[in-house]
Amino acid sequence: MESTESERQLFCKLCNKIFRSRQGLKNHMGLHQGIYRYHCPYCGKGFSGTWSLKGHIATHTGVREFKCHVCNKEFSYKQHLNSHLKLHRAHGQISSKIEESG
Ligand SMILES: [Zn+2]
Ligand SMILES: [Zn+2]
Ligand SMILES: [Zn+2]
Repeated sequence: MESTESERQLFCKLCNKIFRSRQGLKNHMGLHQGIYRYHCPYCGKGFSGTWSLKGHIATHTGVREFKCHVCNKEFSYKQHLNSHLKLHRAHGQISSKIEESG
């Protein structure tokens, strides 16, 4: 029996580790390539910067560092807060003159 394209296993050419998803393999290859210098102490996932690692760790710990000053909604990722703030701006709830810190 022939296996279909979608059932074909993905594996790392360097260490033969097998992955179920293309994304999983991609993350893993990053480790070999040294792209991800920071690793999550909880699940070992690699990240290229401390800010992204920090945001990811928040998903494990439930700590949300970024808080909307308009409605007090909390976010794990700064990016999420920023896109949330855009909504407030679109609704005229905050002046566009207010700069986001950081
Ligand atoms: Zn590998
Ligand atoms: Zn993790
Ligand atoms: Zn808000």
